[in-house]
Amino acid sequence: MRSRPSIVLLGSTGSVGQSTLDVLACHGSHRVFALTANRNVSLMLEQCEQWRPTCAVMVDEEAARQLREAMPSVSPETRVLSGAAALVEVVTEAAVDTVLAAIVGAAGLPSALAAAKSGKKLLLANKEALIMAGPLFMAAVRDHGAVLLPIDSEHNAVFQCLPESNRLPGRMAASTDVRRIILTASGGPFLDRPAEMLGEVTAAEACRHPNWSMGQKISVDSATMMNKGLELIEACYLFGLPPEQVDVLIHPQSIVHSLVEYCDGSMLAQLGSPDMRVPIAHALAWPERRPSGADFLDLVSSADLQFRHPDTEQFPCLRLGREAVRAGPVSVIRLNAANEVAVAAFLGGAIGFMDIPVIIARTLEAAENGSADPVEGLDDVLSIDRRARELANELLIGIVRS
Ligand code: NAD
Ligand code: MG
Repeated sequence: MRSRPSIVLLGSTGSVGQSTLDVLACHGSHRVFALTANRNVSLMLEQCEQWRPTCAVMVDEEAARQLREAMPSVSPETRVLSGAAALVEVVTEAAVDTVLAAIVGAAGLPSALAAAKSGKKLLLANKEALIMAGPLFMAAVRDHGAVLLPIDSEHNAVFQCLPESNRLPGRMAASTDVRRIILTASGGPFLDRPAEMLGEVTAAEACRHPNWSMGQKISVDSATMMNKGLELIEACYLFGLPPEQVDVLIHPQSIVHSLVEYCDGSMLAQLGSPDMRVPIAHALAWPERRPSGADFLDLVSSADLQFRHPDTEQFPCLRLGREAVRAGPVSVIRLNAANEVAVAAFLGGAIGFMDIPVIIARTLEAAENGSADPVEGLDDVLSIDRRARELANELLIGIVRS
């Protein structure tokens, strides 16, 4: 009898990481090889006590020291590793079959790419990793026979609506009779708030999403709608479609997670409760189906389902995302880098909410000249990312609140 597959959870202490452990507890299907986090020692200890992984990684050295001290009394068989290189080390282990990539931001790129290059089954939540390295990432998946399953709820929905025969990475939609993909967006907490009232909103308000419970960075991205800008780019890379074939509609109820429109006029949609355990359970069990623990939808008592076009005047980040993917991979890397810098500054109280798109647009303008830079490997990606962060940080100085 084949033993249970082994999984590594990159970002196990985060929102997606915790939801994944919930689903794993419900399935009993996998053995946990490694859990990884940045610096949340107490939650990592709890998780290790329950899951007894072979390895636990803390990227932060001081956090790793504390974890090493406490681990023997909690899970003596667990080896504690530290530093970013350990993330790559655990995902490339031969004993590992499946990797959940749920680190937030650019920090998750090297480990997610390493999982693709090792031909693993890769459950991808970290959209920043994919969009930074788009073409490289998809080539790595193809060349090394990895199985890439999107966890982002919209992309997971599209994946479920595509025909079985067209699920090859990067060519998932292009070779079918798909007319377009429609990504749905809740519109976030400020959907009906006029643009002139957004200047003074606080980080706490921006993080209070009406339908989803998520980490801080993606919550702010949802409030600016940069999340949908990033997801548009994610969809182009994942499904091999040009941006003209990817539309966005506001759907405040977050029940229809996305749609695929075919050339004969048929539209297929995936519906479900707004609960990340649904796409996570789908990807973990794929190609089979297993329960997720999420509530079942009651269509009769669900609110009316509404759809409308997004207002890119109110939410310029969505327009910036579309322009960046049209301009090419270098602009996409810069967009993502400037967004990470601006969101961190907003969360730290240094800039206002409406300064976020300003920083991103100015970074893209200031950096324009190098848009033909080659993006041939991870080093190129990281150097374009680094330079854009420097630029964004310089621009921040002119804006920072006194
Ligand atoms: P989160 O902030 O709740 O968790 C982030 C995780 O990454 C934590 O475990 C943290 O320890 C780890 N981490 C942070 N910085 C790190 C670093 N420098 N090095 C290594 N590990 C680090 O984030 P989240 O909401 O779970 O989102 C994770 C990813 O999934 C993001 O890319 C997000 O866009 C994507 N995503 C999240 C949701 C959601 O519902 N939360 C939905 C779709 C996609
Ligand atoms: Mg999403």
